[in-house]
Amino acid sequence: MAFLSDAITRIKPSPTVAMTGRAAELKAEGRDIIALSAGEPDFNTPEHIRDAAKAAIDAGQTRYTTVDGIAPLKQAICDKFARDNWLDYAPDQVSVASGGKQILFNALMATVNPGDEVIIPAPYWVSYPDIVALAGGVPVVLPCPAEDGFRLTADALRDAITPRTKWLILNSPSNPSGAAYDDTQMRALTDVLMAHPQVWVLADDIYEHLVFDGFAFATPAQVEPGLIDRTLTMNGVSKAYAMTGWRIGYGAGPRALIRAMAKLQSQSTSNPCTISQYAAIAALTGPQDYITESREAFQRRRDMVVAGLNACPGIDCATPQGAFYVYPSIAGLIGRVSAGGTKITDDEAFATALLNETGVAVVFGAAFGLSPHFRVSYAASDEALREAMSRIHRFCAGWQ
Ligand code: PLP
Repeated sequence: MAFLSDAITRIKPSPTVAMTGRAAELKAEGRDIIALSAGEPDFNTPEHIRDAAKAAIDAGQTRYTTVDGIAPLKQAICDKFARDNWLDYAPDQVSVASGGKQILFNALMATVNPGDEVIIPAPYWVSYPDIVALAGGVPVVLPCPAEDGFRLTADALRDAITPRTKWLILNSPSNPSGAAYDDTQMRALTDVLMAHPQVWVLADDIYEHLVFDGFAFATPAQVEPGLIDRTLTMNGVSKAYAMTGWRIGYGAGPRALIRAMAKLQSQSTSNPCTISQYAAIAALTGPQDYITESREAFQRRRDMVVAGLNACPGIDCATPQGAFYVYPSIAGLIGRVSAGGTKITDDEAFATALLNETGVAVVFGAAFGLSPHFRVSYAASDEALREAMSRIHRFCAGWQ
């Protein structure tokens, strides 16, 4: 009898976490490493949020809470959905977990049966297919190439839906491409979904606030209220308020789904960190200046990185609408040999050679299901980004 379960052997460790770990190891060995592999804002959590956490500790808010979140946080989340998305959710339609990742995990584990299909546009966030596989489901990966703006088209969605389709996972703005759907593009998809009542929508809105050039964010249940009874709208404080380590994410949807997710959480992690829940209330109800400031900083960095990468021979980088990633193509470098003598057979070979020869850590596109690309996270200082761009430029110049 095998010791490890079939379920665990179906999944692999997160490649982005692995790359960030590899970069940290090399740094510890004394190498001059610029890590553009992690998906987290490089800013500090705003002061009023930190203060709220300290106050919660001093007030004795250090015990277990209701499994899926305290009442005032659920209310703050309802108010946020009403304020930002014109979505009318009641507190018992809201679930709070240890990060958006746990919300996704709970939702998929609570609903996916063996053989159920989950449509995942690629490039995708690395955890989606693995969580689906863990649940015994079938990830149906739909390639969305740069020519389509890395966006799923209505035709591709329509063709992929079968009677076994349970969910469509839609992440806008996207990790790793930064692509976002405007109202019209979203409506083209929701129109298809309206014709297929068995398909639920998992809207991963975690980068909602990181949109540039005046882009208007749209979420499926807002664009098509007819989908509200089969949509889970997921969000969190990690990216919006530089709170990745606090581990608070949330989702809102139909009560039966929310209750099932809470049941799963009651038998796994119990409540998300009590102190972090109080911090999240301060984040959602307090001053929102950080959102504007970080958006401006990220837009400036995006422009610098897109220009820097497009100046590199063989690299072609689209300008994304949001998040803090770019997803350039290296089609022009495949088959060539780097100055250090590595034949670039695929994007993994490119990322490995780039790290070894220049000390710049990025994540190869195959990890996100669409090659030949690589992901650059520009959640790093302007200085680090400038230096990284010049190293990548030197790396790409003068190849055989
Ligand atoms: N969804 C996407 C697309 C992400 O990029 C991430 C984090 O990298 C998450 C969800 C989960 O974030 P958290 O668990 O920190 O809320």
